[in-house]
Amino acid sequence: MNERGMHMRGVVLYGPGDVRVDEREIPELVEPTDAILKVTAACICGSDLWPYRGADATSQPNPMGHEYVGVVEKVGADVRNVKVGDFVVGSFFASDNTCEICLAGYQTHCVQRQPGAATGAQAEYLRVPLADGTLVATPGMPDPDLIPSLLAASDVLGTGWFAAVAAEAGPGKTVAVVGDGAVGLLGILAAKQLGAERIIAMSRHADRQELARSFGATDIVTERGDEGVARIKELTGGLGAHSTIEAVGTQESMLQAIHSTRAGGHVGYVGVSHDVSLPGLELFMSGVHLHGGPAPVRRFLPQLIDLIWSRTIDPGKVFDLTLPIEEAAAGYKAMDERTAIKVLLQA
Ligand SMILES: [Zn+2]
Ligand SMILES: [Zn+2]
Repeated sequence: MNERGMHMRGVVLYGPGDVRVDEREIPELVEPTDAILKVTAACICGSDLWPYRGADATSQPNPMGHEYVGVVEKVGADVRNVKVGDFVVGSFFASDNTCEICLAGYQTHCVQRQPGAATGAQAEYLRVPLADGTLVATPGMPDPDLIPSLLAASDVLGTGWFAAVAAEAGPGKTVAVVGDGAVGLLGILAAKQLGAERIIAMSRHADRQELARSFGATDIVTERGDEGVARIKELTGGLGAHSTIEAVGTQESMLQAIHSTRAGGHVGYVGVSHDVSLPGLELFMSGVHLHGGPAPVRRFLPQLIDLIWSRTIDPGKVFDLTLPIEEAAAGYKAMDERTAIKVLLQA
């Protein structure tokens, strides 16, 4: 318990543009499979901007946040894989990691999944259901400079990684990346780690282009829509990319991704779909594979933690603004206005 007794600070969205830091009740164990974390750091997600902008209806004050790292404070009686004092990285859907769907690597579609179960992570404490299946402990307490990278693993890195895997990025492949937000940028990092030969980032912002290059982009395309597609075709002998990562979720970005991909190629789409409606005949004629959805981050966490722990990758570079949790509203504003790529909140 902290000095305020049963209360903690937590970020709550009251309506479009109305982010407040409230005193909320500290969560308690509910199920024997739960864990309570003392959150070390959380962050603001591109998907948090949809309700912030009013695109998703907000009918009641909503605790925000689903990306987190922290220290296990309490565990329920049935929790075996993590213990009090462990530093853990979690994923944004709770999953048992034991059902057939989880074992196939699709933990976000777990038969016991709890979407938004980790909602409210932008707070000092968090209840995580199905702790054994959802949380992964690091080998020890991380050095402070590793925390941003471990936090990135909980969503944006895991999601970018899944997009690259779904797009079948690999040796000999040309990968196009639609979207220069944190997920798109880390999709570049993932494609590079997976051995892609050429990685084309689509971005019109100098600071994001620079980060894209540092993560492994070999080419930058500043055009978007049909012009962007034409540019990708030009760069790929008229064929299109083998693998395309779609990390936005709009009609324009989805069609841009499909049209940028060669016949027989793969689109990995992870931008949360907002009013995307695919023209059937166009899709039929494109001959591309589509695979995506909410990323099963949990599948990749052990591998990603290893890569971060050994300092092989530095996805934490994607955070370009760090704020104390009290200043969450400024963080939302900065991401909304795209003056920040990704905001880390210190709990
Ligand atoms: Zn997220
Ligand atoms: Zn499962």
